[in-house]
Amino acid sequence: MKEIFLMKLGEVVLKGANKRQFENRLRQNVRRRVKKYGNFDVYLMQSTVYVEPIEEDADLDGAWEALGTVFGTVSLCRCRPCEKNLDAIYQAVETYLGEELDQAASFKVESKRSDKSFPLTSIQISQEIGGRLAEAHPNCRVDVHSPEYTVYVEIRDLAAYVHGPATPGAGGLPTGVGGRAMCLLSGGIDSPVAAYMMAKRGMEVEAVHFFSYPYTSQLAKDKVLELARLVSRYCGRMTVNIVGFTEIQEAIRDHCPEEYFTLIMRRFMMEIAQELARRDGCEALITGENLGQVASQTVEAMAVTGERVELPIFMPLVGMDKEEIVTRARRIGTLETSILPYEDCCTVFTPKHPRTKPTLGQVRKAEAALDRPALIQRALESVEKVTVRYDEDEALL
Ligand code: ATP
Ligand code: MG
Repeated sequence: MKEIFLMKLGEVVLKGANKRQFENRLRQNVRRRVKKYGNFDVYLMQSTVYVEPIEEDADLDGAWEALGTVFGTVSLCRCRPCEKNLDAIYQAVETYLGEELDQAASFKVESKRSDKSFPLTSIQISQEIGGRLAEAHPNCRVDVHSPEYTVYVEIRDLAAYVHGPATPGAGGLPTGVGGRAMCLLSGGIDSPVAAYMMAKRGMEVEAVHFFSYPYTSQLAKDKVLELARLVSRYCGRMTVNIVGFTEIQEAIRDHCPEEYFTLIMRRFMMEIAQELARRDGCEALITGENLGQVASQTVEAMAVTGERVELPIFMPLVGMDKEEIVTRARRIGTLETSILPYEDCCTVFTPKHPRTKPTLGQVRKAEAALDRPALIQRALESVEKVTVRYDEDEALL
Protein backbone atom coordinates (compact mmCIF):
# COMPACT_ATOMS: atom_id res chain seq x y z
CA MET A 1 0.00 0.00 0.00
CA LYS A 2 1.37 3.39 -0.90
CA GLU A 3 2.39 5.42 2.09
CA ILE A 4 4.25 8.66 2.63
CA PHE A 5 5.64 10.37 5.71
CA LEU A 6 5.05 14.02 6.47
CA MET A 7 7.33 15.74 8.98
CA LYS A 8 6.07 19.07 10.28
CA LEU A 9 8.76 21.61 10.99
CA GLY A 10 9.20 22.94 14.48
CA GLU A 11 10.98 26.15 15.44
CA VAL A 12 12.65 26.09 12.07
CA VAL A 13 9.69 27.96 10.63
CA LEU A 14 10.35 30.88 12.96
CA LYS A 15 13.86 31.56 11.79
CA GLY A 16 13.26 34.32 9.24
CA ALA A 17 16.30 34.90 7.05
CA ASN A 18 17.99 31.65 8.06
CA LYS A 19 14.95 29.61 7.25
CA ARG A 20 16.28 28.32 3.96
CA GLN A 21 19.54 27.18 5.51
CA PHE A 22 17.66 25.39 8.30
CA GLU A 23 15.35 23.68 5.87
CA ASN A 24 18.18 22.53 3.63
CA ARG A 25 20.03 21.07 6.55
CA LEU A 26 16.94 19.28 7.81
CA ARG A 27 16.28 17.81 4.39
CA GLN A 28 19.88 16.67 4.14
CA ASN A 29 19.73 15.07 7.61
CA VAL A 30 16.50 13.28 6.76
CA ARG A 31 17.89 12.04 3.47
CA ARG A 32 20.97 10.64 5.15
CA ARG A 33 18.95 9.00 7.89
CA VAL A 34 16.53 7.09 5.65
CA LYS A 35 19.08 6.04 3.03
CA LYS A 36 19.68 2.74 4.74
CA TYR A 37 16.01 1.78 4.45
CA GLY A 38 15.57 2.14 0.70
CA ASN A 39 15.15 4.71 -2.01
CA PHE A 40 13.20 7.74 -0.79
CA ASP A 41 12.38 11.05 -2.38
CA VAL A 42 12.78 13.76 0.27
CA TYR A 43 11.36 17.19 -0.52
CA LEU A 44 10.21 20.22 1.38
CA MET A 45 7.08 22.28 0.78
CA GLN A 46 4.73 24.31 2.93
CA SER A 47 6.82 23.91 6.13
CA THR A 48 6.70 20.16 5.78
CA VAL A 49 9.29 17.58 4.81
CA TYR A 50 7.81 14.89 2.57
CA VAL A 51 9.48 11.50 2.66
CA GLU A 52 8.20 9.37 -0.16
CA PRO A 53 9.35 5.82 -0.90
CA ILE A 54 10.26 5.43 -4.56
CA GLU A 55 10.33 1.65 -4.65
CA GLU A 56 7.93 -0.94 -3.33
CA ASP A 57 10.50 -2.79 -1.25
CA ALA A 58 11.59 0.11 0.98
CA ASP A 59 11.64 -0.72 4.70
CA LEU A 60 8.96 1.73 5.79
CA ASP A 61 8.88 0.70 9.44
CA GLY A 62 12.65 1.11 9.73
CA ALA A 63 12.57 4.51 8.06
CA TRP A 64 9.64 5.64 10.18
CA GLU A 65 11.46 4.77 13.38
CA ALA A 66 14.62 6.54 12.23
CA LEU A 67 12.67 9.70 11.38
CA GLY A 68 11.45 9.95 14.96
CA THR A 69 15.03 10.78 16.02
CA VAL A 70 15.75 13.55 13.52
CA PHE A 71 15.89 16.94 15.28
CA GLY A 72 13.97 19.87 13.84
CA THR A 73 10.42 18.55 13.61
CA VAL A 74 7.45 18.83 15.95
CA SER A 75 5.31 16.03 14.60
CA LEU A 76 5.34 13.15 12.16
CA CYS A 77 2.45 11.66 10.25
CA ARG A 78 2.34 8.42 8.41
CA CYS A 79 -0.13 9.11 5.59
CA ARG A 80 -1.80 7.77 2.56
CA PRO A 81 -1.75 10.17 -0.39
CA CYS A 82 -4.68 10.32 -2.79
CA GLU A 83 -6.26 12.48 -5.44
CA LYS A 84 -7.89 15.72 -4.39
CA ASN A 85 -11.53 14.76 -4.66
CA LEU A 86 -14.03 13.55 -2.07
CA ASP A 87 -14.46 10.05 -3.48
CA ALA A 88 -10.75 9.39 -3.57
CA ILE A 89 -10.32 10.84 -0.06
CA TYR A 90 -13.12 8.74 1.33
CA GLN A 91 -11.73 5.59 -0.33
CA ALA A 92 -8.26 6.34 1.06
CA VAL A 93 -9.60 6.77 4.60
CA GLU A 94 -11.62 3.59 4.30
CA THR A 95 -8.75 1.39 3.12
CA TYR A 96 -6.05 3.02 5.21
CA LEU A 97 -7.83 3.71 8.49
CA GLY A 98 -11.04 1.66 8.33
CA GLU A 99 -9.82 -0.90 10.83
CA GLU A 100 -8.97 1.77 13.39
CA LEU A 101 -12.47 3.14 13.05
CA ASP A 102 -13.98 -0.30 13.62
CA GLN A 103 -12.10 -0.54 16.89
CA ALA A 104 -13.00 2.91 18.21
CA ALA A 105 -16.26 3.83 19.94
CA SER A 106 -16.27 7.36 18.55
CA PHE A 107 -14.48 9.48 15.96
CA LYS A 108 -14.27 12.79 14.22
CA VAL A 109 -12.70 14.05 11.02
CA GLU A 110 -10.40 17.07 11.11
CA SER A 111 -9.50 18.68 7.82
CA LYS A 112 -6.98 21.25 6.75
CA ARG A 113 -6.93 22.88 3.36
CA SER A 114 -3.71 24.61 2.45
CA ASP A 115 -4.63 24.41 -1.23
CA LYS A 116 -7.24 27.16 -1.23
CA SER A 117 -8.34 26.32 -4.74
CA PHE A 118 -10.03 23.18 -3.43
CA PRO A 119 -13.77 23.89 -3.75
CA LEU A 120 -14.87 22.85 -0.23
CA THR A 121 -13.89 24.47 3.06
CA SER A 122 -12.23 22.44 5.80
CA ILE A 123 -15.49 22.16 7.70
CA GLN A 124 -17.34 20.97 4.61
CA ILE A 125 -14.69 18.35 3.92
CA SER A 126 -14.91 17.05 7.50
CA GLN A 127 -18.69 16.94 7.37
CA GLU A 128 -18.79 15.15 4.05
CA ILE A 129 -16.13 12.53 4.86
CA GLY A 130 -17.40 12.15 8.45
CA GLY A 131 -20.93 11.52 7.19
CA ARG A 132 -19.84 8.79 4.81
CA LEU A 133 -17.65 7.15 7.46
CA ALA A 134 -20.44 7.21 10.05
CA GLU A 135 -22.66 5.34 7.64
CA ALA A 136 -20.01 2.74 6.89
CA HIS A 137 -19.09 2.23 10.57
CA PRO A 138 -22.36 2.19 12.51
CA ASN A 139 -20.65 1.14 15.75
CA CYS A 140 -18.38 4.15 15.77
CA ARG A 141 -20.35 7.29 16.52
CA VAL A 142 -19.36 10.84 15.65
CA ASP A 143 -18.11 12.84 18.63
CA VAL A 144 -16.54 16.16 17.70
CA HIS A 145 -15.62 17.11 21.28
CA SER A 146 -13.73 14.13 22.69
CA PRO A 147 -13.47 11.44 20.05
CA GLU A 148 -11.57 8.25 20.69
CA TYR A 149 -10.07 8.40 17.22
CA THR A 150 -9.43 11.29 14.86
CA VAL A 151 -9.10 11.02 11.10
CA TYR A 152 -7.08 13.81 9.53
CA VAL A 153 -7.49 15.00 5.97
CA GLU A 154 -4.99 17.48 4.54
CA ILE A 155 -5.52 19.05 1.14
CA ARG A 156 -2.07 20.18 0.07
CA ASP A 157 -0.55 21.39 -3.18
CA LEU A 158 0.43 18.06 -4.70
CA ALA A 159 -2.23 15.74 -3.31
CA ALA A 160 -4.59 15.04 -0.45
CA TYR A 161 -3.23 13.11 2.51
CA VAL A 162 -5.15 11.12 5.08
CA HIS A 163 -3.75 9.96 8.37
CA GLY A 164 -4.49 9.09 11.98
CA PRO A 165 -3.10 10.96 15.01
CA ALA A 166 0.42 12.37 14.55
CA THR A 167 3.44 11.17 16.52
CA PRO A 168 5.64 13.70 18.31
CA GLY A 169 8.82 14.58 16.39
CA ALA A 170 12.25 14.73 18.02
CA GLY A 171 11.90 18.50 18.57
CA GLY A 172 14.80 20.95 18.62
CA LEU A 173 16.69 22.31 15.62
CA PRO A 174 18.31 20.39 12.76
CA THR A 175 21.71 19.05 13.71
CA GLY A 176 24.37 21.20 12.09
CA VAL A 177 22.71 24.62 12.19
CA GLY A 178 24.02 25.48 15.65
CA GLY A 179 27.77 25.14 15.18
CA ARG A 180 30.01 22.48 16.58
CA ALA A 181 30.99 21.54 20.13
CA MET A 182 33.27 19.14 21.98
CA CYS A 183 31.52 17.20 24.73
CA LEU A 184 33.48 15.76 27.65
CA LEU A 185 31.97 12.31 27.66
CA SER A 186 32.45 10.09 30.71
CA GLY A 187 30.78 6.76 31.20
CA GLY A 188 28.22 8.27 33.57
CA ILE A 189 24.55 9.10 33.24
CA ASP A 190 24.93 12.84 32.78
CA SER A 191 27.32 13.60 29.95
CA PRO A 192 25.53 11.54 27.25
CA VAL A 193 22.34 13.44 28.12
CA ALA A 194 24.27 16.72 27.90
CA ALA A 195 25.56 15.77 24.43
CA TYR A 196 22.04 14.85 23.34
CA MET A 197 20.63 18.15 24.59
CA MET A 198 23.12 20.32 22.72
CA ALA A 199 22.71 18.21 19.56
CA LYS A 200 19.00 18.86 19.95
CA ARG A 201 19.73 22.58 19.80
CA GLY A 202 21.32 22.05 16.40
CA MET A 203 24.95 21.50 17.37
CA GLU A 204 27.22 18.98 15.75
CA VAL A 205 28.79 17.18 18.66
CA GLU A 206 32.19 15.57 18.93
CA ALA A 207 33.38 13.90 22.13
CA VAL A 208 36.50 13.53 24.21
CA HIS A 209 37.01 10.78 26.74
CA PHE A 210 39.84 10.54 29.28
CA PHE A 211 40.96 7.05 29.89
CA SER A 212 43.35 5.82 32.60
CA TYR A 213 44.53 2.37 31.66
CA PRO A 214 45.23 0.15 33.65
CA TYR A 215 43.27 1.89 36.43
CA THR A 216 40.24 1.80 34.18
CA SER A 217 39.56 -1.16 31.92
CA GLN A 218 39.07 -1.65 28.20
CA LEU A 219 35.41 -2.21 29.06
CA ALA A 220 35.16 1.33 30.42
CA LYS A 221 36.40 2.63 27.07
CA ASP A 222 34.00 0.42 25.10
CA LYS A 223 31.19 1.64 27.31
CA VAL A 224 31.91 5.25 26.35
CA LEU A 225 32.09 4.37 22.65
CA GLU A 226 28.77 2.59 23.00
CA LEU A 227 27.27 5.66 24.69
CA ALA A 228 28.54 7.81 21.83
CA ARG A 229 26.98 5.37 19.38
CA LEU A 230 23.65 5.59 21.19
CA VAL A 231 23.72 9.40 21.12
CA SER A 232 24.68 9.33 17.42
CA ARG A 233 21.26 7.85 16.80
CA TYR A 234 20.03 11.43 17.14
CA CYS A 235 22.89 13.43 15.68
CA GLY A 236 24.01 11.17 12.85
CA ARG A 237 27.54 10.27 13.84
CA MET A 238 30.02 11.04 16.55
CA THR A 239 33.79 11.16 16.67
CA VAL A 240 35.26 10.30 20.04
CA ASN A 241 38.77 11.45 20.97
CA ILE A 242 40.22 8.98 23.44
CA VAL A 243 42.92 10.61 25.52
CA GLY A 244 45.39 8.63 27.63
CA PHE A 245 45.13 10.19 31.09
CA THR A 246 47.18 7.83 33.21
CA GLU A 247 50.38 9.85 33.32
CA ILE A 248 48.53 13.00 34.34
CA GLN A 249 46.60 11.24 37.08
CA GLU A 250 49.75 9.64 38.46
CA ALA A 251 51.57 12.96 38.38
CA ILE A 252 48.72 14.58 40.31
CA ARG A 253 48.74 11.73 42.82
CA ASP A 254 52.48 12.01 43.32
CA HIS A 255 52.90 15.78 43.43
CA CYS A 256 49.69 17.45 44.58
CA PRO A 257 47.79 17.64 47.90
CA GLU A 258 45.12 14.99 47.98
CA GLU A 259 42.16 17.26 48.67
CA TYR A 260 42.71 18.95 45.29
CA PHE A 261 43.12 15.80 43.17
CA THR A 262 39.72 15.92 41.49
CA LEU A 263 39.80 19.65 40.85
CA ILE A 264 43.24 19.56 39.26
CA MET A 265 42.28 16.56 37.17
CA ARG A 266 39.16 18.35 35.94
CA ARG A 267 41.24 21.40 35.02
CA PHE A 268 43.49 19.23 32.87
CA MET A 269 40.46 17.67 31.20
CA MET A 270 39.04 21.07 30.33
CA GLU A 271 42.30 22.41 28.96
CA ILE A 272 42.95 19.35 26.82
CA ALA A 273 39.35 19.33 25.61
CA GLN A 274 39.71 22.96 24.58
CA GLU A 275 42.84 22.22 22.56
CA LEU A 276 41.15 19.31 20.78
CA ALA A 277 38.09 21.46 20.19
CA ARG A 278 40.18 24.15 18.52
CA ARG A 279 41.94 21.63 16.32
CA ASP A 280 38.63 20.26 15.08
CA GLY A 281 36.82 23.55 14.63
CA CYS A 282 34.57 23.24 17.69
CA GLU A 283 33.32 26.51 19.10
CA ALA A 284 32.28 25.39 22.59
CA LEU A 285 32.74 22.69 25.21
CA ILE A 286 29.89 20.68 26.72
CA THR A 287 29.96 18.97 30.12
CA GLY A 288 27.39 17.06 32.12
CA GLU A 289 27.98 19.10 35.26
CA ASN A 290 25.06 19.64 37.57
CA LEU A 291 25.17 22.18 40.38
CA GLY A 292 25.68 20.60 43.77
CA GLN A 293 25.72 16.99 42.60
CA VAL A 294 29.26 16.14 43.75
CA ALA A 295 32.09 17.96 45.51
CA SER A 296 33.59 19.18 42.25
CA GLN A 297 30.30 20.73 41.19
CA THR A 298 29.86 23.52 43.71
CA VAL A 299 29.84 26.97 42.19
CA GLU A 300 33.32 27.63 43.61
CA ALA A 301 34.69 24.40 42.15
CA MET A 302 33.12 25.09 38.76
CA ALA A 303 34.70 28.54 38.66
CA VAL A 304 38.10 26.94 39.19
CA THR A 305 37.56 24.09 36.72
CA GLY A 306 37.05 26.29 33.71
CA GLU A 307 39.72 28.87 34.46
CA ARG A 308 41.89 28.19 31.43
CA VAL A 309 39.03 27.74 29.00
CA GLU A 310 38.16 30.61 26.71
CA LEU A 311 35.53 28.81 24.66
CA PRO A 312 32.00 28.94 26.03
CA ILE A 313 31.28 25.98 28.31
CA PHE A 314 27.75 24.64 27.90
CA MET A 315 26.33 22.72 30.86
CA PRO A 316 22.79 21.94 29.78
CA LEU A 317 22.05 19.90 32.91
CA VAL A 318 23.29 22.43 35.40
CA GLY A 319 19.88 23.26 36.84
CA MET A 320 18.13 19.92 36.50
CA ASP A 321 17.29 17.44 39.26
CA LYS A 322 18.91 14.02 39.11
CA GLU A 323 15.47 12.52 38.67
CA GLU A 324 14.85 14.54 35.52
CA ILE A 325 18.23 13.63 34.11
CA VAL A 326 17.65 9.93 34.74
CA THR A 327 14.23 10.10 33.12
CA ARG A 328 15.68 11.72 30.07
CA ALA A 329 18.56 9.22 29.90
CA ARG A 330 16.02 6.42 29.98
CA ARG A 331 13.95 8.02 27.25
CA ILE A 332 16.85 8.58 24.86
CA GLY A 333 18.14 5.09 25.52
CA THR A 334 21.50 5.70 27.24
CA LEU A 335 20.60 4.86 30.85
CA GLU A 336 21.03 1.09 30.67
CA THR A 337 24.55 1.46 29.34
CA SER A 338 25.46 4.33 31.69
CA ILE A 339 24.66 2.28 34.78
CA LEU A 340 26.95 -0.60 33.84
CA PRO A 341 29.53 -0.73 36.62
CA TYR A 342 32.84 -0.13 34.75
CA GLU A 343 34.90 2.47 36.53
CA ASP A 344 35.57 5.91 35.17
CA CYS A 345 38.88 7.64 35.75
CA CYS A 346 37.13 10.09 38.10
CA THR A 347 36.90 7.32 40.67
CA VAL A 348 40.65 6.63 40.53
CA PHE A 349 42.55 8.37 43.35
CA THR A 350 39.44 10.06 44.71
CA PRO A 351 40.27 12.26 47.69
CA LYS A 352 38.70 11.32 51.04
CA HIS A 353 37.97 14.96 51.83
CA PRO A 354 37.72 16.91 48.56
CA ARG A 355 37.74 20.72 48.71
CA THR A 356 34.26 22.01 48.00
CA LYS A 357 35.04 25.73 48.29
CA PRO A 358 38.42 26.09 46.64
CA THR A 359 39.89 29.41 45.59
CA LEU A 360 41.88 29.89 42.42
CA GLY A 361 44.97 30.79 44.40
CA GLN A 362 44.85 27.56 46.39
CA VAL A 363 44.37 25.40 43.31
CA ARG A 364 47.15 27.07 41.36
CA LYS A 365 49.46 26.54 44.29
CA ALA A 366 48.37 22.91 44.61
CA GLU A 367 49.27 22.18 41.00
CA ALA A 368 52.44 24.28 40.93
CA ALA A 369 54.79 21.30 41.07
CA LEU A 370 53.48 19.89 37.77
CA ASP A 371 54.94 20.55 34.35
CA ARG A 372 51.52 21.17 32.89
CA PRO A 373 52.45 22.04 29.30
CA ALA A 374 54.57 18.89 28.92
CA LEU A 375 51.91 16.67 30.46
CA ILE A 376 49.26 18.16 28.19
CA GLN A 377 51.49 17.84 25.15
CA ARG A 378 52.08 14.14 25.77
CA ALA A 379 48.38 13.50 26.43
CA LEU A 380 47.53 15.18 23.14
CA GLU A 381 50.02 12.98 21.33
CA SER A 382 48.22 9.90 22.66
CA VAL A 383 44.85 10.81 21.14
CA GLU A 384 43.02 8.10 19.27
CA LYS A 385 40.00 9.08 17.18
CA VAL A 386 37.08 6.70 16.74
CA THR A 387 33.96 7.58 14.76
CA VAL A 388 30.74 5.75 15.56
CA ARG A 389 27.41 5.67 13.74
CA TYR A 390 24.28 4.21 15.21
CA ASP A 391 23.05 3.22 11.75
CA GLU A 392 26.15 1.39 10.66
CA ASP A 393 28.00 0.11 13.70
CA GLU A 394 27.06 -2.87 15.81
CA ALA A 395 26.50 -2.42 19.54
CA LEU A 396 29.88 -2.23 21.22
CA LEU A 397 28.91 -3.95 24.46
P1 ATP B 1 28.69 11.94 34.39
O1 ATP B 1 27.44 11.28 34.81
O2 ATP B 1 28.58 12.60 33.06
O3 ATP B 1 29.87 11.03 34.53
P2 ATP B 1 29.19 12.98 36.95
O4 ATP B 1 27.99 13.34 37.65
O5 ATP B 1 29.83 11.66 37.23
O6 ATP B 1 28.92 13.13 35.39
P3 ATP B 1 31.80 14.19 37.27
O7 ATP B 1 32.41 12.87 37.37
O8 ATP B 1 32.14 15.25 38.26
O9 ATP B 1 30.23 14.14 37.24
O10 ATP B 1 32.10 14.79 35.86
C1 ATP B 1 31.57 16.01 35.48
C2 ATP B 1 31.69 16.12 33.99
O11 ATP B 1 33.07 16.02 33.60
C3 ATP B 1 31.04 14.97 33.26
O12 ATP B 1 29.67 15.19 33.08
C4 ATP B 1 31.80 14.96 31.96
O13 ATP B 1 31.32 16.00 31.11
C5 ATP B 1 33.20 15.30 32.41
N1 ATP B 1 33.98 14.07 32.66
C6 ATP B 1 34.14 13.40 33.81
N2 ATP B 1 34.93 12.33 33.65
C7 ATP B 1 35.28 12.29 32.34
C8 ATP B 1 36.10 11.44 31.52
N3 ATP B 1 36.70 10.37 32.02
N4 ATP B 1 36.24 11.75 30.22
C9 ATP B 1 35.61 12.82 29.70
N5 ATP B 1 34.85 13.67 30.42
C10 ATP B 1 34.68 13.42 31.72
MG1 MG C 1 31.06 10.45 36.15
